[in-house]
Amino acid sequence: MDKEGEGRVILASYGEVMLKGLNRPFFERKMLEGVRRAVAPFGPAVVSKSQGKLVVRPSGEGFDYARAVAAMRKVFGLAYVCDVRETAADMGVICGLAARLAGGGDPGMRTFKVEARRGDKGFHLNSMEICAAVGESILRNVGGVTVDLEKPSFVIHVEVRDGRAYVYRDREAGARGLPYATGGKAVSLLSGGIDSPVASWMMARRGVEIEAAYFHSYPYTTDRVKEKVASLVAALTEYTGEMRLHVVGFTKTQELIREVAKPTFVTLMMRGSMMRIASDIADRVGAKALVTGESMGQVASQTMEGLAATDRVVGKPVFRPLIGMDKNETIDLARAIGTYETSIIPYDDCCTLFSARHPELRPRPIEVDLIRSRLEGAGIGALEAEAAEGREEIMVRPGR
Ligand code: ATP
Ligand code: MG
Repeated sequence: MDKEGEGRVILASYGEVMLKGLNRPFFERKMLEGVRRAVAPFGPAVVSKSQGKLVVRPSGEGFDYARAVAAMRKVFGLAYVCDVRETAADMGVICGLAARLAGGGDPGMRTFKVEARRGDKGFHLNSMEICAAVGESILRNVGGVTVDLEKPSFVIHVEVRDGRAYVYRDREAGARGLPYATGGKAVSLLSGGIDSPVASWMMARRGVEIEAAYFHSYPYTTDRVKEKVASLVAALTEYTGEMRLHVVGFTKTQELIREVAKPTFVTLMMRGSMMRIASDIADRVGAKALVTGESMGQVASQTMEGLAATDRVVGKPVFRPLIGMDKNETIDLARAIGTYETSIIPYDDCCTLFSARHPELRPRPIEVDLIRSRLEGAGIGALEAEAAEGREEIMVRPGR
């Protein structure tokens, strides 16, 4: 707090957590943890909840508000994040502060409106009167701005409660969703492509804790691909905090499939093996579901019959959040969440290297089972178990 008794805090409002009943404290606790982790690099601060909002109050000098707000916008569960001046509930002080905020910012933004909320029914002005007084004061003291109630280029917010006033310019949209790691754990099959990072993000945003599994086919795919996948995981950790990446050596399994299976079934059998190994890893880490970036009809293995065939090999739910999305929608989301630029770096995809030009589009279960039993006879089960057992685990942290 400075000499005018003015402080600066970050206030965030809850999204869906607001709707939670008896177990709301559990969700709130996870959200507080997420915010503490997100703001920690930007200086010491106390994170607490107050009247259904989350408050970040810096406890020392040099706190980087702008970057802390940006980091908080990636914490799942928050609807809005606001950089707020806290001051005495005095109209003179409030108007001076509002004019200062209205005069700062982008010079191109010339239209505004004021929104006020009176939490203190004892305050001498109601919210309409606060708006009118603050608006007039801004018009009088800041040159070249006009009021636009329909489409203002910025909004000055004033809240009066508990004998204090909170004044801020604009509120930033949060990531919404549910707090991370409140909805069980899943293993997400993460390739170096565009789709699977988006699928992982979507499930993480629904509160599902994610462990990533990447299938590496050394020497067909190089360590550069592994690095690329680790960078994608790092982008996800900005939302989730640290995340484990399991790197699975897939070469021997793949080579056996290529040797034994009909070429048109190779992709499908490989996908089945990936699912089995991922399911094995899930059992070892206490995960109860798998996640993939598959989308209906996108490629040959993503037909209804193909998806059904891979579903049959795992005894757990397989979440495919992109199933009904168009590719351009997935790309837009990849851009928005910050994975796209890494995803489009060229890489060797182990599956395309091994797959037939015209894979089976409508695999019949009986034929898939027959090929699988031939693979079993050739020892694929042992190779899959060995792949899961021998995996490399990398703990990826934000800011990598
Ligand atoms: P992506 O953009 O995620 O690579 P895609 O559209 O290229 O997806 P496919 O290559 O058919 O689709 O893969 C389908 C899904 O299988 C992927 O979204 C991913 O979940 C999983 N997958 C494919 N290859 C790998 C791999 N090498 N390691 C881990 N998961 C993989
Ligand atoms: Mg791919």
